[in-house]
Amino acid sequence: MTGIDPGRLDVMLARERAAWTAARPKAVALRERARRSQLHGTPQHWIHQFPPPVPLVVDRAAGARLYDTDGHEYADFGLAGTAALWGHNHPAVVAAVREQVDRGSVTLWSSEDHVWVTEELHRRFGLPFWQFAVSATDANRFALTLARAATGRRRVVVFNHAYHGSVDESLADSVGVEFNDVDALDQALAARDVAAVLAEPVMTNGGAVIHPRPGFHAALRDLTRRTGTLLILDETQTIPAGPGGCTGELGLEPDLITMGKCLAGGIPAGVYGMTDEVAAAATRYTESGDGGLGSTMASGPLAVRAMRAVLGDVMTDATYAHMKRLAVRYANDVTTVIAKHDLPWHVGRLGGRVSYAFMPEPPHSASQMYPPVGVSVREALWLYLANRGIVLNGMSGAALMSPMTVESDVERHGVLFAEAISELCDHG
Ligand code: PMP
Repeated sequence: MTGIDPGRLDVMLARERAAWTAARPKAVALRERARRSQLHGTPQHWIHQFPPPVPLVVDRAAGARLYDTDGHEYADFGLAGTAALWGHNHPAVVAAVREQVDRGSVTLWSSEDHVWVTEELHRRFGLPFWQFAVSATDANRFALTLARAATGRRRVVVFNHAYHGSVDESLADSVGVEFNDVDALDQALAARDVAAVLAEPVMTNGGAVIHPRPGFHAALRDLTRRTGTLLILDETQTIPAGPGGCTGELGLEPDLITMGKCLAGGIPAGVYGMTDEVAAAATRYTESGDGGLGSTMASGPLAVRAMRAVLGDVMTDATYAHMKRLAVRYANDVTTVIAKHDLPWHVGRLGGRVSYAFMPEPPHSASQMYPPVGVSVREALWLYLANRGIVLNGMSGAALMSPMTVESDVERHGVLFAEAISELCDHG
């Protein structure tokens, strides 16, 4: 990459790694202890792939901030990869959860909250019928099962490098095509043997925001309809786009929608919604037996009460206005620094989500991001910022704005980002 000096990058990486570890003796000790009972010494294996040499050990999280066991405080722009999108202790969610814990966390029965939530999901996302799951992974798994049952077909089309959760076994028989490539999609669906296209409406994985080209969604809908293929939109990461996700923002007409993560404000939850036609097939499919759908822990009153609080009190126009305003500021700060140093990078934004990728033009498909470039730059920037109290997404470097994010933290990010890039660039 022009502009970034490899020697300076090495210096920064070594210095920031050492500084991180030196300032966190408690985290180092806990990691050693964890290594004896956890894979890689981390509770989920992928945490060890995040940039810091020793994982962040969180003592507590509040607002859009994290507090670690070694006494450091961070502005959290990672927000648990969208799961903590509304902040770590949004008052509306905390009040609802506190109240419900005393009234029972899980039963296998209905409550008025369930109906309120499914009616509200209908109002926001346009699909009339909904079911509950424990996570977005589960929601995708169940949506694929239903799509196969409804169409009598097995194959599934996904876009290359998309991530839809750890649903590997249900993605067996899948075909990958490039996002935004209408001809490839046409070919993949031509044999009329594909049950569903499973897609993010705007791709967010891989460290970039990949927007659909004009006309792409219309073509995707048209091709799927013409070939009897169901369209499943995974809105898990695109909820920051607006109060009805991208489906609402872009006026999309999927057959099924899946989501999870932030939906219950931090309590595990997933949902999948469907049209009248899919619901009719699903009703027949589930007439007797479980059909491989559902979970005892899905739709417990605790999760559903939290969902009601999120949908009713948190996902408001005012919340989105705040998130978007801060995201625009964050994106402008990064764009200004990139322009000043003439770096061949670009910034992508989707509502309250911002990320930058190390290529001059926004990519049209996720394959353009592979093999990944700028991995060490991303790591150095992550560590530089984290050592100074700013945490980005550990996997992609993306930033999310929550209703609890404060503008002074966004401003501070801009200042630190500018400092880090100045240090890294070769000034001749
Ligand atoms: N869909 C998308 C688009 C995702 O990015 C993810 C996780 N990053 C999932 C589904 C799965 O979510 P979970 O791991 O919470 O099940």
